[in-house]
Amino acid sequence: MFDWMIVGAGFAGCVLAERLATERGATVLLIDRRPHIGGNAYDRYNEDGLLIHEYGPHIFHTNSDMIVDYLSRFTAWRPYTHRVLAAVDGKLVPIPINRTTINTLYDLALTTDAEAEAWLAARAEPVERIETSEDVVVSKVGRELYEKFFRGYTRKQWGLDPSELDKSVTARVPTRTDTDDRYFADKHQIMPKHGYTAMFSRMVANPAITLMLQADYRDIRDLVPHRRLIYTGQIDEFFDHRFGPLPYRSLRFEHVTLDEPQHQAVGVVNYPQGEAFTRVTEYKHLTGQQHARTALTYEYPSATGDPYYPVPRPENQERYARYEALARATPDVWFVGRLATYRYYNMDQVVGQALATFRRIDESLGRAEAA
Ligand code: FAD
Ligand code: UDP
Repeated sequence: MFDWMIVGAGFAGCVLAERLATERGATVLLIDRRPHIGGNAYDRYNEDGLLIHEYGPHIFHTNSDMIVDYLSRFTAWRPYTHRVLAAVDGKLVPIPINRTTINTLYDLALTTDAEAEAWLAARAEPVERIETSEDVVVSKVGRELYEKFFRGYTRKQWGLDPSELDKSVTARVPTRTDTDDRYFADKHQIMPKHGYTAMFSRMVANPAITLMLQADYRDIRDLVPHRRLIYTGQIDEFFDHRFGPLPYRSLRFEHVTLDEPQHQAVGVVNYPQGEAFTRVTEYKHLTGQQHARTALTYEYPSATGDPYYPVPRPENQERYARYEALARATPDVWFVGRLATYRYYNMDQVVGQALATFRRIDESLGRAEAA
C-alpha cells in the first residue's frame, strides 16, 4: 500500500513526490505513461552527443527567489538570456517588437523611447475593451505589425485566428520602445547546468519514491493499492470526458543535426509568415555546449498528437470550470499542473502551484496524516 500515487512525472508530479517523500516520509508511487521522467521538459543527448529538448525549447525564467531556491537543491545553473529573432519580410528582427525592430523593418532611425512610442501610437488602433489576442496587439502596434508578427504565427500555432483566443495568449509577448531584445524580462533567467532530466533524477532519488514508467493510470489504478492520488494528466480524461473533451493543441517536433558548429545567431528564430513551422531552436545557445555539429528543432503545430497547450478561450474555460467543480468534489485526489488545471503555465508557475498544493495537502490532512 502506497501513501500516494502520483500520475505524471513532469514538474508537477516530481515536485510533489519529492516534497511528500522528503518532508513527510510518505511512500510514493510515481508513474508516467512515457518511457522517461521530466514530462515536457525532458531533455536528452542525441546520437551525436548534443543535448536536445525532446518536446521543444524549455527556457527557465522566473521572478520568484523561492522557486529558484527550491530547485537549486537539485541542480546548479548556467546563466542564459533568451533572445529571439523573427523572420519578417526577408529580414531577421527582434521579437518582442522593440525600437530596433521598427528601425530595421522600416529603415528608420528612431533614437529615443518617446520617438518609438509616438511612432507606434500613430499606428495603434483604439480598442474599447481588450478581450482577445487580436485586441492586445492592434491596440499597441496597429494592424500592419500585428499581421506581420502575430496573425500568421497565431493562426499556425493554434489553428485559430487571434480574435478567437483570449488576450492572455499574445499578451505573453510584450511591446517595447527601447532596444531591450531579451525575450523575457524576469529577474532569474537560468538553465539547469546539466539539463532538466539530470535535475529531475535528483528530485526523485529518494528510496521512498518508486518510479514506474510506461505505465498508464488507467491500466494500473486498480492494481496498485494507494491511499491518495495526485493527478497531473488531462482532467477531462480523468473524468472520462463526461462534459465533452477539452481542446489541447499539439505540435510535431522535427529534430535535425547539421554538420556545422552554428546555424543561427540566437537560440530561437520565429517564422510568423509563410513557413509551415512556427520556430526553429538551436540548442547550443541554450546549453552552452561546445561541439563541431549543431542540433535544431522545427516545430509544426498540429490538431492531433500529445496534448501540449490548453487553448485559452471562454467556452473552454467554461467547460474546464465544470470539470474543476467535479474535481473539488472528488475526495483524496489533487489535480495539479498544466494539463490537470487547464492553465497555460510556464515551468516556474507549475513549480509554484505544486509547492502551494503541498501546503494545502498539509492543511487539509494535517501534517501527520499527509504521510
Ligand atoms: P507535463 O510536463 O505535461 O507532465 C505531465 C506528465 O503526465 C506527462 O509526462 C504525461 O506523459 C503524464 N501523463 C498524463 N496522463 C497520464 C496517464 N493517464 N498515465 C500516466 N502518465 C500520464 N515553460 C517555460 O517555463 N519555459 C519555456 O520555454 C517553455 N517552453 C515550452 C515549449 C513547449 C513546446 C511546450 C509544450 C511547453 C513549454 N513550456 C515552457 C511549458 C512547460 O512544458 C510546462 O509548464 C511544464 O512542463 C508542465 O509540467 P506538468 O508537470 O504540469 O506537465
Ligand atoms: N506569438 C506570435 N508571434 C511570435 C511570438 C508569439 O504571434 O513571434 C503569439 C502566438 O500566439 C504564441 C503566443 O504569442 O502562441 C505566445 O508566445 P510564446 O513565445 O510565449 O509561446 P510558447 O513559447 O508558449 O509556445
